[in-house]
Amino acid sequence: MTKQPSAPTPLAHFIGGQRAGGASERAQDVFNPATGAVTGRVALAGRADVDAAVAAARAAFPAWADTPPIRRARVMFKFLELLNKHRDELAQLITAEHGKVFTDAQGEVTRGIDIVEFACGIPQLLKGDYTEQVSTGIDNWTLRQPLGVVAGITPFNFPVMVPMWMFPVAIAAGNTFILKPSPIDPSPSLRIAELLKEAGLPDGVFNVVQGDKEAVDALLEHPDVKAISFVGSTPIANYIYETGAHHGKRVQALGGAKNHMVVMPDADLEQAVDALIGAGYGSAGERCMAISVAVLVGDVADKLVPMLAERARTLKVRNGTNLEAEMGPIVTRAAHERITGYIAQGEKEGAKLVFDGRQFDTAQVGEGCDNGFWMGGTLFDHVTPEMRIYKEEIFGPVLSCVRVPDLKEAVDLINAHEFGNGVACFTRDGNVAREFSRRIEVGMVGINVPIPVPMAWHGFGGWKRSLFGDMNAYGEEGVRFYTRQKSIMQRWPESTPKGAEFVMPTAK
Ligand code: NAD
Repeated sequence: MTKQPSAPTPLAHFIGGQRAGGASERAQDVFNPATGAVTGRVALAGRADVDAAVAAARAAFPAWADTPPIRRARVMFKFLELLNKHRDELAQLITAEHGKVFTDAQGEVTRGIDIVEFACGIPQLLKGDYTEQVSTGIDNWTLRQPLGVVAGITPFNFPVMVPMWMFPVAIAAGNTFILKPSPIDPSPSLRIAELLKEAGLPDGVFNVVQGDKEAVDALLEHPDVKAISFVGSTPIANYIYETGAHHGKRVQALGGAKNHMVVMPDADLEQAVDALIGAGYGSAGERCMAISVAVLVGDVADKLVPMLAERARTLKVRNGTNLEAEMGPIVTRAAHERITGYIAQGEKEGAKLVFDGRQFDTAQVGEGCDNGFWMGGTLFDHVTPEMRIYKEEIFGPVLSCVRVPDLKEAVDLINAHEFGNGVACFTRDGNVAREFSRRIEVGMVGINVPIPVPMAWHGFGGWKRSLFGDMNAYGEEGVRFYTRQKSIMQRWPESTPKGAEFVMPTAK
């Protein structure tokens, strides 16, 4: 009798310092988008699994919050060392389940590591303020304390970096953490949990609950979860913000995007083309900071569009494991259908389809990849603001060119859009750059930088419907989000005057 191949090990949760199968019967398939093959099953947590994770995190909180910040930082330093050692392993896990090309996945891990390096500075970041003699014999100081159990809900598109926008800062600040990653690419989160344990993090400080809406709702409603960080699409970010606030939680919810790149007539056009191709089609356009709209000013379009078309045509779309690949597959079959639907919609609405990524020939992608979720880069010209392909986030390798006469119209166009995550302006003119940066209603601005993702100590956040809540992820705002301020005013009996005071205390 031939032996049946054993079913793939289910990817489940990590609770209280160990992998846990969970109580829920629900699960879904995990795919390799390059081959279209099922490579695993991921458990989808129910309320009981979330309760178990919250209980573990709650139990771990008092001792961890009491651990001196410098000792918490030492765990982060050790974790940093392990991340550097396992960088490629994490990048391989990303490529296998997300599909993005390996070199891009390495870049993702590196940008996550940046935040861990920032979190290593937690003793300095938590340092309080002190004022001597606010009134005679009285001193006043402020300090920041952790909140308790906090949770992070993350999207498929950065399964390592986006969780690292959250948990290094949260944990270093003394909180305990529950990560609910996207079920599309669940493996990196479990490896991260193991590395944190190896770094000496006490059990229960970092937990992973795999799942979907059911797990998210259980976290949103759980009275022991004090804060929620969310990154994902705008409708869900809006829902998380409202529901979390309704349940008395602190919420930062980062949503979707439609990022424009303005090309002024004085820009270096070769550089602008490189930037648009890289930021439009890199990671198959599945980045919240991807450029999806090129705003071409004056006579730029007539020169630039043919250059873009040639580059879209010669884009190296390959299995992400191929080191020459510039773009990998689309993450899921459903996303592939959504994106092809948008391309058809754009044609119907009258945009000029300059290069059609649907006509892509899969012969070049690599062996064994015939059933993967493939398409090439698509280029539209003469896109106008009423079209759905302009208004909505496509989240795929589709670049739309909009033609405007001058800078003012470019700025007005961008400011009228519902999203305000990232934006870029390519120019050689310092005054244009300055005016653009000042007038634009977008949270993250690049001048001749197409993807201006802020560094770890600056904080990340869009404006308008790209961010619900008022605190950026990571940076000093991240520290503030995961801590609450306490103000202490103190005097000693020797400097306390006699007699009850019935008037509002003022400085004396
Ligand atoms: P998504 O909104 O579908 O999912 C995000 C998370 O929410 C996942 O963990 C998912 O399991 C959960 N979720 C999905 N549906 C839910 C529901 N109905 N109720 C409760 N939870 C639910 O997003 P995605 O497709 O994984 O990621 C792509 C989106 O994320 C894009 O819109 C992109 O712009 C956005 N994004 C934004 C940023 C940013 O910083 N602003 C960064 C990365 C990605």
